[in-house]
Amino acid sequence: MTKPVVAIVGRPNVGKSTIFNRIVGERVSIVEDIPGVTRDRIYSSADWLTHEFNIIDTGGIELSDEPFLEQIKQQAEIAMDEADVIVFLTNGREGVTSADEYVAKILYKTKKPVVLAVNKIDNPDMREMIYDFYALGMGEPYPISGSHGLGLGDLLDEVAKNFPDLEDQEYGEDVIKFSLIGRPNVGKSSLINAFLGHERVIVSDIAGTTRDAIDTEYSFDGQDYVMIDTAGMRKKGKVYETTEKYSVLRALKAIERSDVVLVVINAEEGIQEQDKKIAGYAHEGGKAVIIVVNKWDAIEKNDKTMNEMTKSIREHFQFLDYAPIVFVSAKTKQRVHAILPIINKVSENHSLRVQSSVLNEVIEDSVARNPAPTDKGKRLRIYYATQVAIKPPTFVVFVNEPELMHFSYERFLENRIRESFDFEGTPIRIITRART
Ligand code: GDP
Ligand code: GDP
Repeated sequence: MTKPVVAIVGRPNVGKSTIFNRIVGERVSIVEDIPGVTRDRIYSSADWLTHEFNIIDTGGIELSDEPFLEQIKQQAEIAMDEADVIVFLTNGREGVTSADEYVAKILYKTKKPVVLAVNKIDNPDMREMIYDFYALGMGEPYPISGSHGLGLGDLLDEVAKNFPDLEDQEYGEDVIKFSLIGRPNVGKSSLINAFLGHERVIVSDIAGTTRDAIDTEYSFDGQDYVMIDTAGMRKKGKVYETTEKYSVLRALKAIERSDVVLVVINAEEGIQEQDKKIAGYAHEGGKAVIIVVNKWDAIEKNDKTMNEMTKSIREHFQFLDYAPIVFVSAKTKQRVHAILPIINKVSENHSLRVQSSVLNEVIEDSVARNPAPTDKGKRLRIYYATQVAIKPPTFVVFVNEPELMHFSYERFLENRIRESFDFEGTPIRIITRART
């Protein structure tokens, strides 16, 4: 499903990251919740009543060399490019400032809905402070308090009213949607050209969809594909496009719309921190993942090089132990033809359903081999398991007491499931529930 995107804009210190965190709530992310790294997370899913959406904290996209006003301008432009609804945040305690007027002037240019919020209205006595903000010409100001969590309901009601109608299913069920993600210059665009250059690839459309993305539809051997674009592939030449945060933002958007994510690594440079982060998002998003090592032509090789690189990748991407690795060169086209069949395979595994009876045989057999853990004299009892979802395959295991399920035992069950069925390339999820 395509979710609407909300962006928060405004000058520094009005409370953007405070509001972002309030709205996002306690979403735990294995990749991003590194203590001490402030404001690392600038894009997240969120929900309000029945609405699901994604939210961007544009304040987290810093262009370190740019002057103050230029930064705000860039952030507002990102919001106008990427969001469906913009929340323009101001500080009620300071009144309207010239920087607020500057932001307003930029936002006048957008056709997208803008909702004006006045933050730091921490108690009802302060509400009259909002009236000055009508002068910004952005309609009714919504009083909120990020630190006290006040007024957010009314604000989000207004935001949700402005959500566009996004078609639930942009493409048919049988179409494989995939994206190539990776740091700038790893060779994403070159790989795409190498794909599309194949004589049997039929490109049906390079469509600017209603979204900001540029999707490429094509078919090969009777299978339809949509390639979803990411930053670095459209090269619009905007200042902010080269920032790491912006490329992460684009990657996250692409991952969300994909079934299969190709994590592209540059063989010449090896694995970098940002590669891990990006790969982590694909894993968290529950997408099928393929690790593509590009520029294989450019390195000195002997008969051990591939094994060494594989080992290094497995060490760095432990959470992706299910992802196939393919070594290619976009330049010489070496092994580029091998990618599509792998995409087909992992996509199939991503939507594989297994029979409950067979699944339960596997579970019973696993428990017989390796008895379930005990705690304070109580043993975990597994009654039965069932697959409840695909994309990614998700299993519910019914037990006597879910607290008795240890991470290591869950991991053991996952491995046993993987040994019994072909889930190569896809994450699988196991949920433990008490049998009622
Ligand atoms: P940003 O730069 O716009 O992202 O602003 P921050 O979220 O970092 O907030 C700037 C400062 O304002 C921090 O010290 C926050 O604790 C404070 N702040 C944020 N929201 C509120 C609020 O509703 N009331 C008050 N009194 N302070 C707030
Ligand atoms: P992107 O930013 O990830 O889309 O990367 P590009 O496709 O623009 O490639 C970045 C640079 O790497 C360009 O100069 C390409 O010519 C070069 N490049 C891409 N793929 C290969 C490859 O397989 N081998 C070599 N030697 N160079 C490559």
